[in-house]
Amino acid sequence: MRVTEIQTDYDLVVIGGGLVGASFACMAAQAMAKAMSRESPRILVTEAIASLQSSTSFDARSTALSFGSQQIYRGLGLWDALAQNATPITKIHVSDRGHFGAVRMDSEELGVEALGQVVENQHLGVVLTGALEQAPAIDYLCPASITALTPAPQGMQVEVSMPDGCTSRVRAGLVVLADGGKSPLTAALGIASQVTRYEQSAVIANVAFSDAHRWVAYERFTDTGPLAVLPLSSAQGEGRGALVWTVPTHDAEAMLSMSDDEFLAGLQQRFGYRLGTFTRVGSRAVYPLSLSTASEQVRPGLVLLGNVAHTLHPVAGQGLNLALRDAEALARVLREAMAAGQAPGAMAVLQQYVQCQQRDQSATIHFSHYMTRLFSSTHPALVWARKFGLFSIDLIPPFKREFARQAMGLADRMARRA
Ligand SMILES: Cc1cc2nc3c(=O)[nH]c(=O)nc-3n(C[C@H](O)[C@H](O)[C@H](O)COP(=O)(O)OP(=O)(O)OC[C@H]3O[C@@H](n4cnc5c(N)ncnc54)[C@H](O)[C@@H]3O)c2cc1C
Repeated sequence: MRVTEIQTDYDLVVIGGGLVGASFACMAAQAMAKAMSRESPRILVTEAIASLQSSTSFDARSTALSFGSQQIYRGLGLWDALAQNATPITKIHVSDRGHFGAVRMDSEELGVEALGQVVENQHLGVVLTGALEQAPAIDYLCPASITALTPAPQGMQVEVSMPDGCTSRVRAGLVVLADGGKSPLTAALGIASQVTRYEQSAVIANVAFSDAHRWVAYERFTDTGPLAVLPLSSAQGEGRGALVWTVPTHDAEAMLSMSDDEFLAGLQQRFGYRLGTFTRVGSRAVYPLSLSTASEQVRPGLVLLGNVAHTLHPVAGQGLNLALRDAEALARVLREAMAAGQAPGAMAVLQQYVQCQQRDQSATIHFSHYMTRLFSSTHPALVWARKFGLFSIDLIPPFKREFARQAMGLADRMARRA
């Protein structure tokens, strides 16, 4: 529930009520309640930004949720509310501008209802924040910022700063840092990040077009970077989609100041006519892109989740999907450890989480990174490799199934269950 006053002791403090922090807090409340059969867990979530529209998570973007992520939200009882704004993806069309070769993935062929679901981030914000406000085990404090973290016996000490300048100190058995990585907390803790700058930025906007999208998601690789159009619910009888257009960083700002007509003409030229004519574009925003991985994801009493642990290029739509699998694994490890009487912040418990997710994280990060490198280059060898790659993925069913399983976020969930 939303609170204005907090306690001095919590089992878990989640820093950041964005996409990852809010989702994890809901999972943790469920998991810890199962482990602590006699008492209710005490969880605090702090979020620095009061308005959903100004949040770094719940802005004008849309997110392609994999089939695996949909299952995670269903397990939390949130899918029915999210589904009210979700548009299914029944086909994915991957192509390379100016070159032969395209991959078409079809939900029917793969025997699933949808390959993924596109949900507008603002709707994710309404549903996830609503869940934090309603959960009896969660104290949701917003706006409030965590300004310091200090190791303490059996956990961490957390300094909470309110907008009026007042600060309080709270003890936490475990702190989950889901602050997106732009706060000074990791630097103060001496946790470094390895950063690869792509020198690319994503220009995002909602666009309208003359033809129906027929629930197809398009990923088109061009010589300046990938361009994706994800299907959205239609408005005023026109087709509508979420555009993520990757361009060299030095061109991105100019694309914000272009007139709508100029922007749409450039888009039409890059994308072609698979969706008919582009007719309108909504407000545009720019995101500089890099791959960033934290040098440590756990310390006694501390776990890094979401963008602060790993920030990926959005080319394959994997950032949130991977973070949700991490969050699910962490919640499961905590439930098992607490049921066995172990402290949630014990290093042995947290290392078990890291081991569980190591393979999934490494495979997903490499998949996104190499897709970006391979599909943003004009080097003749790479052009040949992607031409051959797309062609062989399309022709060889096991390749195609593996590609689809990775994109749907199922590869690791299935391996864990085997
Ligand atoms: C253009 C683009 C398209 C994308 N599309 C997809 C997609 O289709 N599918 C997919 O899976 N992923 C996608 N992603 C990735 C996805 O958006 C990220 O994985 C996700 O936003 C990470 O969320 P987060 O909660 O870790 O970080 P953030 O979104 O940055 O949230 C962090 C939160 O912490 C709060 N905070 C920060 N510091 C403090 C503090 N000291 N105290 C309290 N609160 C604090 C912030 O206010 C914020 O609300 C995309 C990314 C981009 C850039």
